[in-house]
Amino acid sequence: MLWLCQIVFLDEIYKFIKINTLRMTAHQLSDKIDEETLTAEAERLGQRTDICIIILQMLSSDEAREIVSVDVLSSCALHNTDKSSKFTLYDAALENGGSLMQRYRFDVNRKVFISVQDDLYDKISDAQESMIYSVITQDHTGNTYLILLNAIITPLSATVRTLNLLLGAISVLLVITAALLAFLIARSLSRPITRLNESAKKLAMRQYDTVFTGGGCREVCELSDTLNYAASELSKVDDLCRELIANISHDLRTPLTMIAGYSEVMRDIPGENTPENVQIIIDETNRLTLLVNDMLDISRLQSGTIALKKERFPLTHSISDALTRYTKLIGREDYTIRFEADCDVWVDSDETRFLQVLYNLVNNALTYTGPDKTVTVRQTVSNGRVRISVIDTGAGIPPDQLPLIWDRYYRVKDMHRRAVMGTGLGLSIVKTAMEALGGGYGVTSTLGAGSTFWVDLPLPAEQEIAKGNTQ
Ligand code: ADP
Repeated sequence: MLWLCQIVFLDEIYKFIKINTLRMTAHQLSDKIDEETLTAEAERLGQRTDICIIILQMLSSDEAREIVSVDVLSSCALHNTDKSSKFTLYDAALENGGSLMQRYRFDVNRKVFISVQDDLYDKISDAQESMIYSVITQDHTGNTYLILLNAIITPLSATVRTLNLLLGAISVLLVITAALLAFLIARSLSRPITRLNESAKKLAMRQYDTVFTGGGCREVCELSDTLNYAASELSKVDDLCRELIANISHDLRTPLTMIAGYSEVMRDIPGENTPENVQIIIDETNRLTLLVNDMLDISRLQSGTIALKKERFPLTHSISDALTRYTKLIGREDYTIRFEADCDVWVDSDETRFLQVLYNLVNNALTYTGPDKTVTVRQTVSNGRVRISVIDTGAGIPPDQLPLIWDRYYRVKDMHRRAVMGTGLGLSIVKTAMEALGGGYGVTSTLGAGSTFWVDLPLPAEQEIAKGNTQ
């Protein structure tokens, strides 16, 4: 841009500005042509714009009276020419419709203007070039005036050459500085990225203790923080994965060993083919089925592949029904499951999923309850929600373990005995299912007194009105 403006278009721009100045000056003088301040105004304009001014009052076609003359240039073409040249300028302006802008060279020897159209123009190239603007105007009494303005056009070739040289030098300097700066910036940017890349490669090779050191700009620092976080999360996932495989393989291996062992004993020793031994094989197979089903359920729930069928169902009725069936099904008729409900409610939820949650909680409660072999299921309604609590009278859970029991495969250490046929997945299924159903869950437990596991669901809006009526 600089080069275009200062070199290529400099001449054009310079002439454009000169022509505009001449036009504006002529306009201002024409406005004041019959005022007394005309001479003073012409002096002021001439000094300010470096323009020579001559104003002639045209008396006849060959007679004129000079009323203003401002000579600010050392060798003004207008002031050095004879009267006839001025009449020539008048005629030319008249012919052109009242005004004429022309470039001339002043032939000093012959004292005449050579117009740019003239062949002689180029021959006197050493002569100063002038831009002469001739304007014919009239005052309000009808007197005709010729305003002649002359501005010198300074040859710009020397200036252009100087500017060219300067610009060239500046350009070279700029290119070198820019290249140097670009190199330094690129290096300062790429160094931390290269470091991050090295660390990322180590992370890919499972070196989870890799530390990402960013440095440099803010974005790179943020990226390295994120990568450090990702590395720590990956290491947790890796630990979890290892623990998971260990747990699963342990849980699968134990029943398989039992099944294989008992089957071989029954095959080899005829007397051992007893219903009790067959029952053990059946129990262990059931345990395997339970484990596999639980694992499937939880992974499907977490990946969202189980589509929830949310529809209205009578919750109180459904729970009472399920508990009766459940007690018979699990063959624990000697246990008591009490169901207490403050009123009949119905909810908008997935009945199958909700009953799965209930079965898991009741199953745990039956497993861990105290010698009274009693489990209480209580339904309470408050604040537009219905809460189902499953209460047992067992040993309770140590407070520090309470937040952990919802994790997959977690089992309270002291309680883990093989007779308790859990998979460690039950509460994790409760948690995942309740989250999917948009309900809440929780537990309160007192050591030696028992635990209360609860889940809750929102009631439909019209449900609250119905409940109000029944109360
Ligand atoms: P599990 O199949 O082992 O019961 P869960 O996920 O259902 O797995 O439960 C996790 C652990 O929480 C259990 O191993 C047990 O230690 C503890 N727990 C669950 N329910 C109860 C309860 N009602 N009373 C005491 N401890 C419980």
